[in-house]
Amino acid sequence: MAETREKLVDVKNLKKYFPLKNSMFKKGNQVVKAVDDVSFHIYKGETFGLVGESGCGKSTLGRTLNRLYDPTAGEICFDGNDIASLNNKQLQPYRKRIQMIFQDPYSSLNPYMTVEEIIDEPLEIHTRLSKGERKKIILDILEKVGLKKEDMEKFPHEFSGGQRQRIGIARALSTNPDFIICDEAISALDVSIQAQVINMLEDLQKELNLTYLFVAHDLSMVRHISDRIGVMYLGKMVEISKSDELYAKPLHPYTQALLSAIPIPDPIKAQNSKREIITGELPSPIEMEKGCRFRARCPFAKPICAEVDPTLKEVEDGHFVACHLY
Ligand code: SF4
Repeated sequence: MAETREKLVDVKNLKKYFPLKNSMFKKGNQVVKAVDDVSFHIYKGETFGLVGESGCGKSTLGRTLNRLYDPTAGEICFDGNDIASLNNKQLQPYRKRIQMIFQDPYSSLNPYMTVEEIIDEPLEIHTRLSKGERKKIILDILEKVGLKKEDMEKFPHEFSGGQRQRIGIARALSTNPDFIICDEAISALDVSIQAQVINMLEDLQKELNLTYLFVAHDLSMVRHISDRIGVMYLGKMVEISKSDELYAKPLHPYTQALLSAIPIPDPIKAQNSKREIITGELPSPIEMEKGCRFRARCPFAKPICAEVDPTLKEVEDGHFVACHLY
């Protein structure tokens, strides 16, 4: 069935390669293919979860989308405009609309700035509002993220980890963005605090009509918040599906293995469950052999998997997978 919702982000054949620095192991012009020909889209108002093991390229993809990194090739259509090759000046209006929340709230907040200065900085850069007008906005945002007026004068070290992440969220909200990239935004927090931050992000999404890309390293973390989920493996998108369907019926062997790695709290159920453990070596992202990148670790690999790199195809309504089994 054709999807009629409006796309806010539409990524086509995006590549981000990093040249390998000079080292005794370097041969010729070698590159690390962190993001290698990735295509997907995010609808207005949805949360798209992006998961995969550490080093799979998900954070690089997030940072390339908001142009912290320049793409090597491909398109990043944001609200209908390709921003992939815009220069810094041309990017200014988009920087205001695309914001980022980082994993470690402590290192992403300037320790010498007060909360007011931290939230005011993007407002000062991206708007022409007076100091008084900006202060009104800061107070409003602080209330939205559950912080108090008195917190404005404090420094990041005076807060707990969860509160610091609230400051990071407040900073991201200050320019009234449309799209927020949450890069492992809750990974460093305690489980109880994670739930609070996720609930707050969901409330803010409804209130402010936000669209999220939610990057996380495990599937249990994105399950609750995501409408759809993309699974990345070694720079490639290997599966995209609605969140519930991905958990109920994962198709790609890598997604199946990621799901079975989620701890089961009930010891009896855990004992009876059939768990897929990923074995085999993680291939090098520098010298990629032809064929499927997962084949060295895949229990279902067949001869074609060593020859042809599978492309992402829709096998059920809205469920895409890159695997020769389908
Ligand atoms: Fe396994 Fe082949 Fe599918 Fe790759 S394409 S995941 S090797 S079955």
